[in-house]
Amino acid sequence: MSFTESAERQALRESVRQVARKFGVEYAVEHARRGQPMTELWQALGAAGFLGVNLPAEYGGGGAGLYELSLVLEELAAAGCGLLLMLVSPAICGTIIARFGTDAQKQYWLPRLASGSSIMAFGITEPDAGSNSHKLTTVAAHDGDAWVLNGQKIYISGVDEAEAVLIVGRTADARTGKLRPALFVVPTDTPGFTRRPLEMDIVAPEKQYLLFLDDVRLPADALIGDEAAALLQLFAGLNPERIMAAAMAVGSGRYALGKAVGYARERAVWDVPIGAHQGVAHPLAQVKIELELARLMMQKAATLYDAGDDMGAGEAANMAKYAAAEASVRAVDQAVQTLGGSSMTAEYGLAAMLASVRAARIAPVSREMILNFVAQHSLGLPKSY
Ligand SMILES: Cc1cc2nc3c(=O)[nH]c(=O)nc-3n(C[C@H](O)[C@H](O)[C@H](O)COP(=O)(O)OP(=O)(O)OC[C@H]3O[C@@H](n4cnc5c(N)ncnc54)[C@H](O)[C@@H]3O)c2cc1C
Repeated sequence: MSFTESAERQALRESVRQVARKFGVEYAVEHARRGQPMTELWQALGAAGFLGVNLPAEYGGGGAGLYELSLVLEELAAAGCGLLLMLVSPAICGTIIARFGTDAQKQYWLPRLASGSSIMAFGITEPDAGSNSHKLTTVAAHDGDAWVLNGQKIYISGVDEAEAVLIVGRTADARTGKLRPALFVVPTDTPGFTRRPLEMDIVAPEKQYLLFLDDVRLPADALIGDEAAALLQLFAGLNPERIMAAAMAVGSGRYALGKAVGYARERAVWDVPIGAHQGVAHPLAQVKIELELARLMMQKAATLYDAGDDMGAGEAANMAKYAAAEASVRAVDQAVQTLGGSSMTAEYGLAAMLASVRAARIAPVSREMILNFVAQHSLGLPKSY
């Protein structure tokens, strides 16, 4: 076990920083305020090989791991240019297709996702199910060789940017009649698939959608992996999502802390910079410690995942996501406090981050559901719900 990052990983961090610098935080803020996707940044990252760094080299990826992908997102977010869809397109969808797809599915999707020429969104959340995925009611029925999907999804990010959505549906077990989850690639132009943008109150370049699937007919090969093993396949994608959510949160926290420290060094309203007052300095030092701890757990989770330890990675990914969300919420809140009135101006753009980092406590899995997981699985306490 080494706590020193390899020269390759350090070089990757620097290369990502260089791309982020070309675009700059102004580019990200402008797109967020207009609710417009950062397509040029996405394409530049794809062209540089950063979007598919975790995907197999034989399908156009970089042949590295989730550690590298999370490092890319952390650095982007630390530069103020975090890309939410990196949680979804290369991390969930790319991983699931690479691990469980047929050769034809890999041939078609992985080079596209890696190059950034195509994006795949991910839809699991439903209006009446929320955190309770056992209550999903999007059903996929056999019709000869085809599948017919019916249901609704909510808060699905980036559907306007996506060629397809990986939909978590349920199929009936022929023997028991019980419904079990299954994964389907649904191209966004399929008849019967419609989307309605949600009016969100967060300032972000990505939009969220309500999806309607009304008798959506799909060919047999829309199913990813084994109909019977979908839960295992689903978690193979959800653990990477949690690690990437942690990366986005750690990066955003680093960005906010950087702004706060820079301001605290310069701003003097008495005889010394405000950073000389312990009331300003200590909370920032606390944020630094919490971000470092969260990042360490994120790196542990990614390392376990890349080593093929899905069980160990599951626990660590949940803990990392929890810790990173808490640390980033505190980082942004403390940055806002440090900048005083300036934080509320458009020039600094920090107040707008209050809501967007707060989303990390809710999505992709809420703080409370992680505490439930840890109480039950790590501590062996009875299930409480
Ligand atoms: C910006 C954003 C982007 C998103 N993008 C996507 C996407 O691309 N794809 C997708 O599928 N989903 C997406 N989501 C949805 C997200 O995953 C859900 O919001 C999240 O899983 C929580 O579900 P919910 O909002 O229905 O909350 P609910 O499940 O209704 O929960 C509400 C509150 O009750 C608490 N709660 C619920 N059950 C329990 C319990 N048993 N014990 C203790 N507390 C409990 C929760 O922690 C939460 O605080 C996105 C959400 C946001 C905000």
